[in-house]
Amino acid sequence: MSTNTLSAIVALIGRPNVGKSTLFNRITRSRKALVDPTPGVTRDRHYERVVWEDKGFILVDTGGIDDNPEDALVHHIREQAMLAIDEADIVLFLMDGKEGVTPADQEVIEILRRAQKPTYHVVNKIDSAAKEIELLAPFYELGVENLWPLSAEHGYGFPTLMEQLGADLPGDRTEGLELPEGTVRVAFFGRPNVGKSSMINQILGEERMVVSEISGTTRDSVDTLVTHGKYSYLFIDTAGIRRKGKTTEKLEKFSILKSLAAMSRCDVAAVLIDAEEGITEQDTKVIGYVLDEGRGLIILVNKWDLIAGDKKRQEAVMAEVARALPFVGYAPILNVSALTGYGIKRFFPVIGSVYRQFTASFPTSALNNLLREAVEAHSPPIYKNKRLKFYYTAQIGTRPPKFVVMTNSEKGVHFSYERYLVNRYREGLGLDKVPIRIIFKAKSEQRKKG
Ligand code: GDP
Ligand code: GDP
Repeated sequence: MSTNTLSAIVALIGRPNVGKSTLFNRITRSRKALVDPTPGVTRDRHYERVVWEDKGFILVDTGGIDDNPEDALVHHIREQAMLAIDEADIVLFLMDGKEGVTPADQEVIEILRRAQKPTYHVVNKIDSAAKEIELLAPFYELGVENLWPLSAEHGYGFPTLMEQLGADLPGDRTEGLELPEGTVRVAFFGRPNVGKSSMINQILGEERMVVSEISGTTRDSVDTLVTHGKYSYLFIDTAGIRRKGKTTEKLEKFSILKSLAAMSRCDVAAVLIDAEEGITEQDTKVIGYVLDEGRGLIILVNKWDLIAGDKKRQEAVMAEVARALPFVGYAPILNVSALTGYGIKRFFPVIGSVYRQFTASFPTSALNNLLREAVEAHSPPIYKNKRLKFYYTAQIGTRPPKFVVMTNSEKGVHFSYERYLVNRYREGLGLDKVPIRIIFKAKSEQRKKG
């Protein structure tokens, strides 16, 4: 899956129990869908990157995201709709064919219509062609152009729906956008008011920067191409519009969808944390997604000026950040101030080294030496009366570096030995600042000999 594909966002919305997660599963598990095989580590994985007919998109089940059970039902789905309107390219609006039309459905359809958001009005739970006419009838009063009868559970209507969706998906949004070779895409994440815009402005204010704004590459963000020395960076502001110099009302609310869209486009995610407030649940959530997506990660503890004189607080916040992020121990943590510019000079070399590691490739012979030495230094365990064996290794991808290790038993590779090998790879290859992935593949003894 190319990282350069700027994925469209397809959002599933609808009342609880209409079948959103059933449809989500059907799409992502369909034989025609190519889903990023990397298992997610965040518990609430309600999105998947999917490639359908050569077009990439992010499928999001909004029922699981930003979920607030205390919300009244109508309010809750209205919120989903607003979110989808802001950020999705295409909405799959699901209704329940067995229950018929509800006032909540009508209201949301009206909202989507006013926003002119491309919407598929899907009537789910139509489990057979025989039932279609009868169950669909009440939905005609909605006055929408097209109704899509579907059985998310049994597949009726699914091929037709997906064929049209495939045709409607936008192609690669990077088309026509010419970035200098080796441009590092850096996206900034963090809660509203943490200092994302100030940070970008501070960076742009530095000397020797050649800046050009690239608008129109996505609907709602102004990317900035920056040349610093011989390197180029594309800065992606997830706040959408950079509020240069003027303070505007902050209605922006934290949005996972917005984060996801930017995350699919970046090499390095810079996550800003407020030094005074410390790390929040939203921060760890975003970092979890960065981890899932396998992006490079840099943590910026911003507003350092506010605690400049307070050694105790400084130590406390750095310890808190490290403690909260046990899975991303490789991520550089920088204390900075977007207001005064403190620490910003250190940021560039760090981006550079993260990016170099993120895109690094290694010759197979060096990798095999590394594997052999690692195995000699620390014998693999016995599994089912047989010693675990590793035959050879190779790099199978970059962004982030990904390796395969052929073994006699995938199941025999326990967590502790896997962690040992990952650490040896990290040390041996100088990959201390990025996520790396090792995939173990079984190769039978017979095949090896034959
Ligand atoms: P969500 O809350 O919108 O994500 O809904 P779910 O996908 O969890 O589905 C709610 C219930 O409806 C589950 O019991 C599903 O088995 C059922 N369901 C989903 N799709 C269909 C369908 O196409 N036909 C029928 N008969 N039941 C369905
Ligand atoms: P965004 O919503 O993440 O883009 O945050 P902004 O860049 O708009 O910053 C929000 C507020 O925090 C503004 O009033 C900034 O002046 C202030 N701010 C941003 N960075 C710093 C910093 O490093 N130190 C201090 N003291 N204030 C900052």
